[in-house]
Amino acid sequence: MAPPPSHSQAVLPAQNLVLDRIEQVDDRFLVDVHVQNAARCPVCGKLSQSRHSAYVRHLKDLPWQGFAIELRLKTRRFRCRNQACTRKIFAEPLPEVARSHARWTTRVGEIIRLIGYTAGGLPGSRILDRLAIPISDDTVTRFVKVSSDDLASNPIRHIGVDDWAWRKGQSYGTILVDLDKRQVIDLLPDRSVESLQAWLERHPGVEVISRDRCGIYAEAAEQGAANAVQVADRFHLFLNLSTAIERALEERSRELFLPDPAPKQQAVEVPPPSERRTTLEEQRKQQRRQRRHERYQRVVELHRLGHTQRAISFEVGIQRKTVRRWLRAGQFPERKPVTGRRSHVREFHEYLQQRWNQGCHNATRLFQEIRARGYRGSRQMVSHHVSSWRANPKSGSSSKKRRFDRIAPKHAAILTCRPTERLSEQQRILFEQVAVNCPIIRSMRFLARDFREAIATHDKDGMLHWIRTATQSGIGPLIRFAYGLNKDFNAVVAAVETSWNNGQTEGQINRLKAIKRQMYGRAGFHLLRARVLPYRAMAP
Ligand SMILES: [Zn+2]
Repeated sequence: MAPPPSHSQAVLPAQNLVLDRIEQVDDRFLVDVHVQNAARCPVCGKLSQSRHSAYVRHLKDLPWQGFAIELRLKTRRFRCRNQACTRKIFAEPLPEVARSHARWTTRVGEIIRLIGYTAGGLPGSRILDRLAIPISDDTVTRFVKVSSDDLASNPIRHIGVDDWAWRKGQSYGTILVDLDKRQVIDLLPDRSVESLQAWLERHPGVEVISRDRCGIYAEAAEQGAANAVQVADRFHLFLNLSTAIERALEERSRELFLPDPAPKQQAVEVPPPSERRTTLEEQRKQQRRQRRHERYQRVVELHRLGHTQRAISFEVGIQRKTVRRWLRAGQFPERKPVTGRRSHVREFHEYLQQRWNQGCHNATRLFQEIRARGYRGSRQMVSHHVSSWRANPKSGSSSKKRRFDRIAPKHAAILTCRPTERLSEQQRILFEQVAVNCPIIRSMRFLARDFREAIATHDKDGMLHWIRTATQSGIGPLIRFAYGLNKDFNAVVAAVETSWNNGQTEGQINRLKAIKRQMYGRAGFHLLRARVLPYRAMAP
């Protein structure tokens, strides 16, 4: 039994459709409709009353109350009576219902596209199935790809270009961002001079190209848009600088150990052992744990990005077997509590040092003395602790460099490059400690600061001066960096003098990565491109 025509009429996709019949077959409704008014010739626009024939189109439409709907649309063919018209026979066009040859109504197609764009092919087909719009994931994917071909035709003036990884370390694509509209304008399947050059030739209005510092995009811009201003991206400039500083510190990794804190006053007034343990030792333990935790997070992050264990070991500066152990653990492996002995003798360092300098060089005697002050470890530990002083009996301060107080070049580079106001008190102290044995790190810090300032204050002369200073710094990696800046000088000056940068491009790359990950690597380039480009409603 059909529902009252006035209500069911309202749910049809267009006002000029007339409902003839509704029939239920299993879990779907078949809805017969026809068009009432006369049709216009799509070529000349003249109305025609001369019917030629009719046929039935099957269109899937929006579900009703959880039931799938199939429209059986009786479509008429007409003769065009306009003598001047080239068209003799035409089928009535119904753009508000469905595109010609479509198997879905336009309104349900739009929903399929939006869900496919947001969720991807397979998840999209699952959601749609639940909504009583049964559809395969391939079809969802086809819907999403449809409109990605019509790119924004209005002129694009300022673009950001960067690469993104299909497979880390293996294949890369290129992303182009409209810096004015803050939207992705295109995705290229590779990272090559030819493809970007061709794209730029198709878009001659581009005035500014913000790019990284690898030569490919520079050359493509040179060839494809010779009049456009190239801007070296600031973020990449800073990145290149900090990499250069890190390399310089790697070359000096022997100097990257921390001196003994050895405060002078404490040796005289020895606080009770329990209190001392909670302060000094606990604090240092916390710092060690913090450093270890940072390394752990870095390992996990690099692993997620697809780096090999060897590469991670090199990058983070820890042994490969540690990398393997951490990745296997699946969570941050807390250190087992140390049994105390080793640390205990260190707690008495100041006292031992004071007694040593007073002339007491007998390990057994020293052992007995600190035992009376709460030491619980063995005599051998004391003997070992003072043994290094024996070579140079005058000073008890020439203790051995301790392995655990080394700092990774990467970590030291971060401390060197970060502005003072963004360092914590602890980090400031740490930097000062590093500088004791590696004084050149101070020069690097000044260089990093001046570099930042030159860019922040749009100071072209400052940058020129910086390049000269770095060239004469005597620090190999920084000299090479400065030469690189000279080679790319116009783009570097543009980075200093203008405000264009690739910040948004980086953001769009993160979005791309998220979409790519969600597609489980199954997606082809075209679907990825369609989903990264901004969503556009289908033109009727
Ligand atoms: Zn006509």
